[in-house]
Amino acid sequence: MSKYYTFSFDDGVTQDIAVTKIFRKYGFYGCTFFLNTGLLGASWPWVGEQFGRPDVTHLRFTEEQLKTGIYDGFDVAVHTLHHPSLSYYDDTPEKITEEVQEDANNIKRIFGCSPVGMSWPGGEFQCTEKTIKTILETTDIRYSRGVESTYDYRLPDNFMIWRPTCSFSDERVLELAEKFISLKTNEDALFYVWCHAYELDFNDSYGKLETLTKMMTEATGIKCVNNTEFYNLFKAEK
Ligand SMILES: [Zn+2]
Repeated sequence: MSKYYTFSFDDGVTQDIAVTKIFRKYGFYGCTFFLNTGLLGASWPWVGEQFGRPDVTHLRFTEEQLKTGIYDGFDVAVHTLHHPSLSYYDDTPEKITEEVQEDANNIKRIFGCSPVGMSWPGGEFQCTEKTIKTILETTDIRYSRGVESTYDYRLPDNFMIWRPTCSFSDERVLELAEKFISLKTNEDALFYVWCHAYELDFNDSYGKLETLTKMMTEATGIKCVNNTEFYNLFKAEK
């Protein structure tokens, strides 16, 4: 029985550079970055504005920037082409297929890998049973991360609504990390943290990310795997 640690970031914004720099410093590569390849180079200033922080950018990398090695060593996967609420397209399923599979195809073209995973734009509240069925039947995607915190270390029951332990911005994240490090268990356990890198600007929490990464990589008996590696290890059981 093993303890696993995995991380993911959504949207593919320029703050990911600072995040990957911290991860590389500690040799941590157990992270998946979910990208919107239909929005490359797009600026969404309203994200910072809606949180009262117009100084914080939400700027996605361009294709040229993506090819400079920003995500080398990390996993990259699907967050759809344009970040829509996918259930909105339940009656036009070809739009769901396009949003998901074309993003996967672009990632294959840019990075050379074929994604089998995604995260739900807007969280798992933006999908229905029908949305999931369409994705499983018409795309290569086999897992999709939600946003609702479980605050526990159980493995997902359903990889298409894969809920994380908590957000990195959650005030309990370091406490949950300590609890996981000292956890004694007879079952496989997973500590899954997710975030958007621009939130680290909101909260000035780069030091906190360094603390968490140091803790998790120095702890003994914890396997750091990216989301896709974890899925591949456990897909047969679920
Ligand atoms: Zn997103």
